Amino acid sequence: MRILLVEDDTLLGSGLLTGLNGEGYSVDWLKNGKAALSAITTTPYDAVILDIGLPEMSGIEVLSRVRDQNINTPVLILTAQNAITDRVIGLDSGADDYLTKPFELDELCARLRALSRRARGLTQPLIQYRNIIIDPAAHSVTADNVSIELSRREFALLKELVTSAGRVLSRRYLEEKLYNWDREIESNTIEVHIHHLRKKLGADFIKTVRGIGYTMAKE
Ligand code: CA
Repeated sequence: MRILLVEDDTLLGSGLLTGLNGEGYSVDWLKNGKAALSAITTTPYDAVILDIGLPEMSGIEVLSRVRDQNINTPVLILTAQNAITDRVIGLDSGADDYLTKPFELDELCARLRALSRRARGLTQPLIQYRNIIIDPAAHSVTADNVSIELSRREFALLKELVTSAGRVLSRRYLEEKLYNWDREIESNTIEVHIHHLRKKLGADFIKTVRGIGYTMAKE
């Protein structure tokens, strides 16, 4: 999952960046509202963690402008304690959820998983595809109840393909979902991960769509 973190507090921001990376998220971190607005409108994030008090443009204004452009990216706002007005205005401006500072990383991650489920229209915490079961909370995958060891990127790629079953996902789209801006990636990176997934799960799950990308058949 690719996340945009917008937080101007350097200490909190770097702590969240480290924590979220450790949980397997690919994270871009920005510290002002204007840059956040342009990033959200150009990058397919799975979720945005948006502080309200930001330089240049407030989180509320970023949110209103994003929703005005009909961009549905799930947004979780961060508000100060006792800032009930911020939470009310935030939710009414299109936020999907909020957290009050200070909060625990565990709660943030659980809320991100819930947002991602809702955004994909899923209610079950486990994702099943044929004989494969993906547990996003535990970062684990089983096939016929046998545990399959996947790298962080392989896991993210499999989850992306399974939850988009029936759609063709381009290499470029998958690269954007799996890697943040700071990563220089090789042109065949996605192919290499696909190759490993096929070796671990069987060759017939993931179909190559020549010249475009990859797909998994809708069940
Ligand atoms: Ca702030």
